[in-house]
Amino acid sequence: MPTVVNCPTCKTNVEWSEQSPHRPFCSKRCQLIDLGEWSFENNKISAPITSADQISQDMIEDIEAMMAKNEDDFFK
Ligand SMILES: [Zn+2]
Repeated sequence: MPTVVNCPTCKTNVEWSEQSPHRPFCSKRCQLIDLGEWSFENNKISAPITSADQISQDMIEDIEAMMAKNEDDFFK
């Protein structure tokens, strides 16, 4: 009796054999959908890190500008 798995995309039963070249996916379409969601998830993870880096860089510049301004006030 062949092993049957569920397609990760559409949950269709997929026979784990040479009959299913895209296993564990039922079809090429479901394989591409899963790959697309995987890369989308990756983009979501990397995007906040990039913007956080930009924010902290802006904050550092703001703090440096504030400190420079305070120094000017201090030496007046
Ligand atoms: Zn499927």
